[in-house]
Order: sequence, then C-alpha cells, then structure tokens
Amino acid sequence: MSAPTSELMEFDDVIAAYDPVLGMEVHVELGTATKMFCGCPTAFGAEPNTQVCPVCIGLPGSLPVANAAAIESAIRVGLALNCSIRPSSIFARKNYFYPDQPKNYQISQYDEPIAFDGHLDVILADGTPWRVEIERAHMEEDTGKSLHIGGTGRIHGASHSLLDYNRAGVPLVEIVTRPITGAGERAPEVARAYVSALRDLLKALEVSDVRMDQGSLRCDANVSLMPKGAAEFGTRTETKNVNSLKSVEIAVRYEMRRQGAVLRDGGEVVQETRHFQEGDGSTSAGRRKETAEDYRYFPEPDLPPVSPDPAWIEELRTTLPELPWVRRARIQQEWGVSDEVMRDLVNVGAVDLVIATADAGASPEAARGWWVSFLAQQANSRTVDLADLAITPVQVARIISLVDEGKLTNKLAQQVVTGVLDGEGDPDEVVAARGLEVVRDDSALQQAVDVALAANPDIVEKIRGGKLAAAGKIVGDVMKATRGQADPARVKELVLAACG
Ligand SMILES: [Zn+2]
Repeated sequence: MSAPTSELMEFDDVIAAYDPVLGMEVHVELGTATKMFCGCPTAFGAEPNTQVCPVCIGLPGSLPVANAAAIESAIRVGLALNCSIRPSSIFARKNYFYPDQPKNYQISQYDEPIAFDGHLDVILADGTPWRVEIERAHMEEDTGKSLHIGGTGRIHGASHSLLDYNRAGVPLVEIVTRPITGAGERAPEVARAYVSALRDLLKALEVSDVRMDQGSLRCDANVSLMPKGAAEFGTRTETKNVNSLKSVEIAVRYEMRRQGAVLRDGGEVVQETRHFQEGDGSTSAGRRKETAEDYRYFPEPDLPPVSPDPAWIEELRTTLPELPWVRRARIQQEWGVSDEVMRDLVNVGAVDLVIATADAGASPEAARGWWVSFLAQQANSRTVDLADLAITPVQVARIISLVDEGKLTNKLAQQVVTGVLDGEGDPDEVVAARGLEVVRDDSALQQAVDVALAANPDIVEKIRGGKLAAAGKIVGDVMKATRGQADPARVKELVLAACG
C-alpha cells in the first residue's frame, strides 16, 4: 500500500525543516565463471536448480573454498575506489533463517572487510563535483531466489513459493558509503549520480556486467532526516533493490517526503526496510530492520584469512584500466566537444555507448545523435536505463552505416531501431523482414512521381514558372506513397526533370 499524497510533505518544505542523510549500499554480482565458494557455474537464466552442489546448498560436511578470481575482483574494486586493502581479512558467518539461504547463514565479511576507507568523486548534472566517502567494500555470497506463485508475485496472497538456488553462492562485493550529509535538496540527485558513477567504474573494471534490470547491480538506499541544527542523525529506513538509476532518485525523494510528513505530524520514523514500487514511485513497509547483534556474526571457521601478497596488490594497482573520468576527459578532447555536450552525454548515461558505437565504425557525431535523442526517447518510453536497451553499440553502428550508404533514410532507420528493440533480430534482419530498404528502382519512383504530378497540376505550373521550392509538396506526397522508403533527394531530381 502506498501512502496517499496527503501523507507526503512538499519537497521544499522538507528541505526547509530538515537535513537529509543518505547511506548507499550497492551489491554487485561479480562476473566470475564460478561461484564464491564452489565450482558451480554462475550463468544467468539457467533452468532452476541446475547450478547447485553440496557446498552452495549447504549440505552437512561440505566445505567452502574461496574463489581467487573473486578475491582479485574485490581488490581491484577496492583499489579503484581509493580504498586501503587489508593485509589479512577474514570471512564471517551472518546467521539468519530465510528460505532462499539454504545454509541458514551467509558467508560475508564483518569487522575486517577486504577494502575500507576510500572515496568516489562523482559529477552532478550541472557539473558540480561531489565526493562520496566509501566506508568499506566487502566480499560475500548471494542468496537464492524465491518465486511466489499466484496472487501478485509478492508473498502475501501467494498460494505457494518455489525456490531457485542457482544464484545461491554467486560472488558479491558490497560497497557501503559513509553517511552522505550536506546534500540538502540535491540528495536524490547525489544518490543517483553516485550509483551511476559506481556502475561506470565497475563496468570499466570488467568485474561485472552491472545490469540493474537483471539484478547484477542492486542498490539499497538508506535515508533519514535530521531537524536543521540537530546534532544526531534521525532514524533511517532502507529502501531495497531499487533497480534503475531513475528509480534511485525517485525512491530517495519519496522517502524524504514521507519521513518529513511522519515527523511533521509528531510521529516517529520506524527503522525498517522498505520496498520500492516501480509503478507509482512509492515505497512500502517491509520488515523491521535487524541490528548487527541480531545476526550473531562470528568468524567463519571453514575458511582461512585472505592475505593477499602486497606485491600482487601493487601489480593489480598498476594494471587498473583507464578509469571512466580519465577516459571521459581524453575522449572529450579527441572529439573536440564542449563541457556542456559532454555533460549531457554523461547525464543520459551515453558516454560509453557512444564510444563503443564509434569504435564499431560510426562517426562520433552520428553516434552521439542517435544515443542522446531517438534512443534516449526509446529508453524513456520503455522505462529502462539507456545502457539496458536491447540494442548493442555494434547494431547502432550498423544502422548508421546503412544510413550513410543511402540504404536507409533517418525515418526508416528509426523503424529499424524499433524492430531491434522489439526483438525482431539484427538490423539487417529487420530491414529484410519489414521490407524497409530505400526504394532504388527509378521506374517504381517515376510511377509515384507521375501520379503525384498528375494530381497537382497547379504545382507543376509553379515549378515550370521557376518556383522550384514548390517541388517540396510533390516530394512529400511521393514519400507518403512509398511509406518513407524513397530517397527524397532522388525524388526531387525526378520531379524537377519531369517538369523541365
Ligand atoms: Zn555449488
């Protein structure tokens, strides 16, 4: 149930009375071939319970072995976030019963995470830099998935639940910020910019595919309000698994307004997890939030400490890839575009996509044009982030080359994009299946031109009288008659020749 609007405070009133405090927790599924503590594969979308073994479903007597590739990824994430790497970190058991966690505990890290005390500098929409302090980045294993059958898909009202343990034991890195204070009215924007920058960073490190829509990057947003001038933070809520960048901003804003109304009316904010509702952008109460004591953490007895060789850490440091912000500055110079153009690209999340499209052979200008306009509109109307659109930079580059070769007009190319997004195949397949190629056959065009001229004798007179601009009307009619598949320049030539 979402709160009625009267239970929300006006955003400006919230800002006038309170200072928001944020804390972001991001779980990222590492793209390793196998799970964190066993050799099971991690591929997304396999048949339920086909990627499991005694270790990841917690059968008695099975023993975990830490995945070296996952440890390497965690260290690289820590280094890229300017964290210190702990010489010796340990795993801990986090004890809780939940059906999707077959061991009744999760192997995580508690007081000795592998990476700690870092920061990530993010750029807000107007170019303002904002430093987010990172408290820690630790390793843990993912849980399985519950599927509630019947009703709305939520546990309430379901007739029964099914469990899929394929995801149980997939390696995760959880990145936790220190409290983000002083953002004021920009708090929702800071939250979004942080997740966006973190996603770009993780992508550049190639440690994860960072698909928010598939859950490989999951964001929990902690929000609280403190009265202006107060010394202590207010009670916070944790909105779970917000699965797009836009939703991060909406969820933080909603929680600020909801908590503002609770406090205004003399109530107390309850420390709890909340669920984000994609549909109306509200949050609803989940479970009361456990404290660390509830989990009875203790050192995992079946795993030795992780003690990476300092020389190896230094090697990983020196082999970090070019980081997104460095790359952006270099690319901006190469393309010779203004700060403003670059910022627009960053704000719609198009930089890497444009670079990849240009790398696939398109001109940077054409690639920019497609990603920031038509594709951005498509992402918007399909309510997915640009990077999650079902079209690849290689496919966009192919469509651009078809336009450059004169095989598609811009209008036809938009139809091809739509076809690709709708799952009709590669650009060439969509062109063939929908019959979208530009009509090259002059005799077919000539026929359409003749029909249009015969229907508009007055315009023919005007053209013959030297008013060549009048040809536009005939060209338009021919384009309509050919459903946009004619080359307008060629049609114009034929019209002028016929009137000559
Ligand atoms: Zn396994």
